[in-house]
Amino acid sequence: MDPFDDLLAANREFAGHFTLSGFDGVAHAGVAMVTCMDSRIDPLGMIGLAPGDAKILRNPGGRVTDQALVALVLGVNLLKVDRILVVEHTRCAMASSTEDELRGRVGASAGMDASWMSLGVIDDQKATVRADVEKVLTHPLIGDQVHAGGFLYDVDTGLLDQVV
Ligand SMILES: [Zn+2]
Repeated sequence: MDPFDDLLAANREFAGHFTLSGFDGVAHAGVAMVTCMDSRIDPLGMIGLAPGDAKILRNPGGRVTDQALVALVLGVNLLKVDRILVVEHTRCAMASSTEDELRGRVGASAGMDASWMSLGVIDDQKATVRADVEKVLTHPLIGDQVHAGGFLYDVDTGLLDQVV
């Protein structure tokens, strides 16, 4: 039994009624979203979009990292993105522990020291969202071409709260 068997079986099912063949790589709704890797988040569903509509960039906490900025620069300049949402969420593990606590939990799971690793916990989510939106808007290759907003998503109600 291969650990991927169930997923590959599901993929054959998926390919059986696949409708996105020949689709271009453009964001048809002009949307890019940076959000957390949290499995409670359905980035497309929460804003009424479908595959093909948006660029979705995910990482722990939903941060505008250097790599996320690269993706946003490409999205804005080459893939028709003109609205960017930075979405953090309630009950995020990255915002409910200190760096030391989170390293401690990772270390305990891995069975070895994790104190050397930077995990990037978030002290103040609203301040972080504001700073990340600012980072998008002040990027020389993004700047005035786009609207950027920062939001907090409530994982218990499904509602977005606009921070900036
Ligand atoms: Zn999270």
